[in-house]
Amino acid sequence: MNYDYLVVGAGLFGAVFAHEMAKKGKSVLVIDKREHVAGNIYTENRMGINVHKYGAHIFHTSDKEVWEYVNRFAEFNNYINSPVAVYKDELYNLPFNMNTFSKMWGVKTPAEAKEIIEKQANAEIDRIKKEKGADTFEPENLEEQALSLAGRDIYEKLVKGYTEKQWGRDCTELPSFIIKRLPMRFIYDNNYFNDRFQGIPMGGYTALVEKLLTGKDGNITVKTGVDYYDFVKMNGNLPAQPFESVNADSFGKILFTGMIDEFFGYKLGTLEYRSLRFETEDLPDVDNYQGNAVVNYTERDIPYTRIIEHKHFEYGQGKGTIITREYPANWKHGDEPYYPMNDEKNNSMYAKYTELSKEYPDILFGGRLGQYKYYNMDQVIRAALDMASKQN
Ligand SMILES: Cc1cc2nc3c(=O)[nH]c(=O)nc-3n(C[C@H](O)[C@H](O)[C@H](O)COP(=O)(O)OP(=O)(O)OC[C@H]3O[C@@H](n4cnc5c(N)ncnc54)[C@H](O)[C@@H]3O)c2cc1C
Repeated sequence: MNYDYLVVGAGLFGAVFAHEMAKKGKSVLVIDKREHVAGNIYTENRMGINVHKYGAHIFHTSDKEVWEYVNRFAEFNNYINSPVAVYKDELYNLPFNMNTFSKMWGVKTPAEAKEIIEKQANAEIDRIKKEKGADTFEPENLEEQALSLAGRDIYEKLVKGYTEKQWGRDCTELPSFIIKRLPMRFIYDNNYFNDRFQGIPMGGYTALVEKLLTGKDGNITVKTGVDYYDFVKMNGNLPAQPFESVNADSFGKILFTGMIDEFFGYKLGTLEYRSLRFETEDLPDVDNYQGNAVVNYTERDIPYTRIIEHKHFEYGQGKGTIITREYPANWKHGDEPYYPMNDEKNNSMYAKYTELSKEYPDILFGGRLGQYKYYNMDQVIRAALDMASKQN
């Protein structure tokens, strides 16, 4: 069959793009190497609970148009992300706010909290300057940066261990720019995000993506369990022109949402990622394991960074519960590439791949992996809508 577009990747980017092109009357074939659609936002219903298989996903945005768009494909609940941090036997509200400060120091007013933070931060700055014999303070690593912003208590209990687990390195070995600022709120407000709109699609993200992929007049075809590199006729590392599949489908253009460096056979180098490992446990005899959807573990000795209890994203009241422990992991070839490492070295390599991609105007690159960007879901939708609007 003759398709206008081959979309590689049935994640959020691919699904929005396919939907928009179908709306313009184009025919689209969407393939994904996984056995399901929705990419990393895939949710799987078990025991009546929508399990976020590739990590907790909370939709939040200040982009009204994107919010209205996504509400056309799912009804969102009023979930507000309010994680809790566990440090030894102490529990703290996140993000850092008056509830956190009040628990930590017994203070009641913003002025009292600010005074303690400033006092602790200044003491650290003075200590570091003295130790280095320097007149001015210039943080040399993440530890110095965090201590100078938040003081010793917050750093030791809530930043240090968590950050070291996330990056697999000591804070003294991490660059200071990773933490430009530590957002603090001097009000009693545990809402983690600052965005105007927030929620979880009732019934899970998979249903939302399925609705996007339904298209108009059946002009979107979806095939899962199909890897691009086995599906398309290749000419070395690149698709042979004209674009054809091994079973004689043909395509006008390709949107690729997999890894851009893999697409070009890593000829300009390998882009780096951070990965994650998830350990999910079904607890049919426990109705409420931790009383909150997201609980962070900030001690370095506990190997996971957080435990997700999925039912709380949708205020589940049924019997049993499902929890997932999230372990940060180094990435190597073959692992899931979850987080692009947007440092200078990788960004400049990505820029070279972008230059190279300009030689292939009929191949578009989109999404977290195709554009090597730390996109949230709303940004993915915005980018996919913008790309689709430029297609004729
Ligand atoms: C742990 C975690 C938590 C997150 N939490 C949030 C959150 O709370 N809120 C938020 O807004 N965002 C969150 N995000 C970001 C969100 O997951 C992404 O913005 C979004 O899923 C990216 O969509 P995508 O389509 O670009 O990529 P993906 O979802 O990765 O889709 C790409 C698809 O391409 C397929 N593919 C790749 N290569 C090939 C190939 N060779 N052949 C065929 N198919 C291929 C893959 O199988 C995949 O399905 C989180 C991300 C992670 C990793």
